[in-house]
Amino acid sequence: MGRFRAVGVGVASLSVAALSAACMSGGDKDAKVDAARAKASNMAAAASEKKAETQVAAKAKANELGQIPVIMYHRIIKNPPPGDDRTPEQFRAELERLAKEDYVPITAAEYVTGKIGIPAGKHPVVLTFDDSSPSQLTLDGMGNPMPDTAVGILMDVAKKHPGFRPVATFYVIRDLFGMAKPEEQTQVLAWLKDHGFDIGNHTHDHLNLLGKPEKEVEEQIASGQKMVTSLIKFSPVTLALPYGNQPHNKKWAMKGSAAGTSYDFRGVFLAGYTPAPSPYTKDFDPVGIPRIRSKEKVGDCVKFCSTAWLDWLNANATDRFTSDGNANTVAFPKFKAPFVAAPFAAQALPY
Ligand SMILES: [Zn+2]
Repeated sequence: MGRFRAVGVGVASLSVAALSAACMSGGDKDAKVDAARAKASNMAAAASEKKAETQVAAKAKANELGQIPVIMYHRIIKNPPPGDDRTPEQFRAELERLAKEDYVPITAAEYVTGKIGIPAGKHPVVLTFDDSSPSQLTLDGMGNPMPDTAVGILMDVAKKHPGFRPVATFYVIRDLFGMAKPEEQTQVLAWLKDHGFDIGNHTHDHLNLLGKPEKEVEEQIASGQKMVTSLIKFSPVTLALPYGNQPHNKKWAMKGSAAGTSYDFRGVFLAGYTPAPSPYTKDFDPVGIPRIRSKEKVGDCVKFCSTAWLDWLNANATDRFTSDGNANTVAFPKFKAPFVAAPFAAQALPY
């Protein structure tokens, strides 16, 4: 291989040099020839790097245009009532399954901005927690998460499965993990940020935004944003709509302002019912990103919740996002090329 490449470079340099020589003379000529040679050699190096990247992508069966499960959790409690809450055992079992099936958690902020830096052959999953309940995170007197909270369980599973990143996004409302004092609220939000977790906006009062006037929609979202920014130095990058309901004009949820606080999100999340498109495809619509409820196959969850969708993604590997391990490229089988979103075309690595 090495020898063929060397011959190729020589030919390219000579022909560029010949062209250059035809239209100039004197001392200039040597400098131009050197520059042309350097350029040809850089091009050859780039081509050879691209070839190596393509081989890695093909070997990993990378498909960075595939779908990503964004799983939605509420409370993690013993003896949950019928609905969306999960027991600590059910939550742990789902995380164990994700780890075993080569998923690696990324945050909602990483997902919407396309910063998916996971190893080759792995699949991203976004873990999201709504309503900031104490069952998701309660810290003990030394600032360590209680073991049966969502964060405690996630960190324990991550410890047992190296490479399974303990990250998630918490969509918070005014009940900030059951903390009443601003100092305690700051402690818990700061703990999340300091440990690599992501904080999202779920509005201030968790009202149904369906049918509400624009002013009230913007007030609810802006005051949720202000609640976080007044406690820690961080602005949420994404919003999850209460009950998954979009306002009359869905763009009101994406960008707006009220009482001197503005928001301009990179993504707004719904509450159902399918895996989410890759942020690198034309199918990605930041104004309404689907999520999946965490639940086994019962009732409408026979098809539309996490157990069913994880089964489906396993059975339909060509539809699932698989990383090539290179955060700078968007790798996929050539056949899928028409679906690449324009902003990522320059990073495309078809194979
Ligand atoms: Zn909620």
